[in-house]
Amino acid sequence: MTVFNCDEVLNKVYDYLHGELAEDDRSGIEKHLPECSDCAKEYALESTITAKIRSSSWNQISTEILVERAFMQAEKEE
Ligand SMILES: [Zn+2]
Repeated sequence: MTVFNCDEVLNKVYDYLHGELAEDDRSGIEKHLPECSDCAKEYALESTITAKIRSSSWNQISTEILVERAFMQAEKEE
């Protein structure tokens, strides 16, 4: 059984939500989350974002991100 510390859990929480983790990693995270409020909070945040991305507002979000990136890029180039 894999045991993760907080850093490892936070690194993997995104992949976990997207179903991209191996069974071993998944069970390690599932064991850690109920025992750690910090990581549980981060997980809740990520899962909200993931749910939004998967919902109909995805187009709007991606447009916002693109616009933001474009602005950042423009600022860098000035
Ligand atoms: Zn933790």
